[in-house]
Amino acid sequence: MKIAFFDTKPYFKDTFGPLAKEYGYEITFFDERLTPETAKLAAGHDATCSFVNDEVPAEAVRTLKEVGVKVILLRCAGFDSVDLAVAKECGLPVLRVPAYSPESVAEHGAALLLGVNRKVHLSYNRSVKFNFNVAGLDGIGLYGRTAGVIGTGKIGKCMINILKGFGMKIICYDAYPDTKSGLEYVDLDTLYKESDIISLHCPYMPSTHHMINAESIAKMKDGVIIVNVARGALIDSEALVDAVESGKVRGAGLDVCEVEHDYFFEDRSNLEKHDPTLSRMLSNENILLTGHLAFLTDVALNSIAKVTLDNLKAFEEGRELVNEVK
Ligand code: NAD
Repeated sequence: MKIAFFDTKPYFKDTFGPLAKEYGYEITFFDERLTPETAKLAAGHDATCSFVNDEVPAEAVRTLKEVGVKVILLRCAGFDSVDLAVAKECGLPVLRVPAYSPESVAEHGAALLLGVNRKVHLSYNRSVKFNFNVAGLDGIGLYGRTAGVIGTGKIGKCMINILKGFGMKIICYDAYPDTKSGLEYVDLDTLYKESDIISLHCPYMPSTHHMINAESIAKMKDGVIIVNVARGALIDSEALVDAVESGKVRGAGLDVCEVEHDYFFEDRSNLEKHDPTLSRMLSNENILLTGHLAFLTDVALNSIAKVTLDNLKAFEEGRELVNEVK
């Protein structure tokens, strides 16, 4: 099987390259993202392999079909990049990596929470200048406070375990509560009202677009901290920055953002003009933003490569496609 690998980065090449040889697969590594314009590059390949910011809308799916691609591999959990209906119509299975290391993603969420709360980034900026003045670097104690977790799937549950380790009281909201988990589920308004920190772990869908907005923020406790390692568009960025600037929200730890498609995974420092909302976010010291790297651990990368290639193997051998997005 030949794989057209899009949006190649060194950390992916280093893990997929050697492993693919063991599976007997040939990979062509393209720097380009998979988009309707680049889909033609997949000609002569059996599979495409794409990541979170590749774009596989109807037009791209149809081109992939035309050039002979038989299966779409996603080396990520989220599948919002692909037009699933058209993929189905074209007979192209979409295979994803539903879980590669939920612990790694949750650990990064915890890092962002601790970082923004204890102002680690601001402290570091001072330390490197030999400025060890700690004025203005105060945080809140997490022990005994309430964490509201939205989405109690694989990552949400790992986050809950970490937060419990901090001694926090956990309340949860999920559209499909896990009634066997023993978790305390509340409605969203109660979660907003009672939580000192809110961590998002639900998928992005039309129904969750901007679920954190001016209206929901108004329902939250003053001084709440918001963590998002799920998807950027769950939050209305403008409303968030307004709330951080006003002090309603104490801080936000974000690994994802609405405009990440135009920025993340590349050095964009030399752009002449920047997105105004992103600029506002980055200039606010109470917003700690990382560039979608919650997945970037040794464990996760190896697992992503193995599950992606196992998915292709199952397809090649006509076995059940357990990781097919239906
Ligand atoms: P999961 O499918 O195991 O869990 C998602 C949970 O959200 C489920 O319990 C589901 O019932 C719940 N849910 C669905 N709709 C909801 C709604 N409207 N409101 C509240 N809850 C809802 O997924 P997961 O592996 O835990 O991943 C969660 C999200 O994290 C993914 O959708 C993905 O966008 C994101 N993610 C980010 C990174 C990163 O590197 N930053 C890595 C992996 C995943």
